[in-house]
Amino acid sequence: MASKSLRTAVITGANRGIGYYIAEGLAKVLPDFRIIITSRDKTRAEEAAAKIIANNPSAKDRILGFACDISDYATVTQLKDYIKENFGSIDILVNNAGVLSWEDLDAKDTEWVVTTNVLGTINITEELIPLLNPKGKIINLGSSAGSWGKFARVNKETCARLLDEKNTVEDLKSLANEFIKDVKEGNYAGKWCTQRSGYCFSKLMINIYSRNLSFRQDIKDKEIQVYSVCPGWCRTDMGGSDAKKSAEEGADTVVFLAGLLPFKVDEKYQGKFVRDREPAEWEFSPYPHDEPVYN
Ligand code: NAP
Repeated sequence: MASKSLRTAVITGANRGIGYYIAEGLAKVLPDFRIIITSRDKTRAEEAAAKIIANNPSAKDRILGFACDISDYATVTQLKDYIKENFGSIDILVNNAGVLSWEDLDAKDTEWVVTTNVLGTINITEELIPLLNPKGKIINLGSSAGSWGKFARVNKETCARLLDEKNTVEDLKSLANEFIKDVKEGNYAGKWCTQRSGYCFSKLMINIYSRNLSFRQDIKDKEIQVYSVCPGWCRTDMGGSDAKKSAEEGADTVVFLAGLLPFKVDEKYQGKFVRDREPAEWEFSPYPHDEPVYN
């Protein structure tokens, strides 16, 4: 077991894809950190940890694998208890785990995607916030698919409800559940108008959650940094083989924010959606369509 004097980073869904390279990158740039790689499967998490150590032997004893399914709250609690008992606190949480389906508003897929990407991410974050040290960092993997002007076309009234800066965690969770329910019941048209799949909605919600976290008093009091990151279109199981970037290139902005940016709130980035190491717009054209778009 690694020494208690190390600081701790947790990366969800880090057994493959972008998450793996975030872990490998952070192992290199943060030599005073232990890195907990989570995967839904303990063996896969441990295999990824062993691969990072094989590529970087100086990381021996500070890369650990732990099983955690972010949509299974019992395993999130197990992770929290494990950290509390063994290390006491964390300094970095990277919410990388995510799923995608392009099935156009298929009810089952929508529920799976929104439950994992929105409710799962919110739940693990809220569980681990009490363990985050002052000046810690929360980095959520968003996507440009969650930008208003791109795919996440939501009508005017829904825009206003989603964008409300006063939305609490409970409000965001209930909006996510409302979306799932409306898709299930065929009531999304004219209200949500999300173009293609719940994935765009889920990543839009990640941007909103990240922004709202940065407004929260408990986050301000502890001077915690919060970001949402678009890794770009990457060659992973999710992104497919035609994507422009490698998974390692996709990890770069997260490695930059988590590993290279000082542990001090930087207003340039705080609460922002970050792409290619720079804040990017996602709220542009907040009311893009007076008329609903259904396709
Ligand atoms: P990926 O190759 O499909 O890997 C996804 C990772 O998430 C895997 O480790 C997977 O673990 C894990 N995961 C899925 N469901 C989970 C759950 N319920 N609990 C815990 N872990 C879970 O995806 P990726 O392309 O690396 O994407 C990583 C993140 O970047 C995602 O949030 C994605 O939305 C975002 N992103 C990707 C792209 C892209 O082009 N690839 C673009 C924009 C944003 P298992 O092995 O157990 O399934």
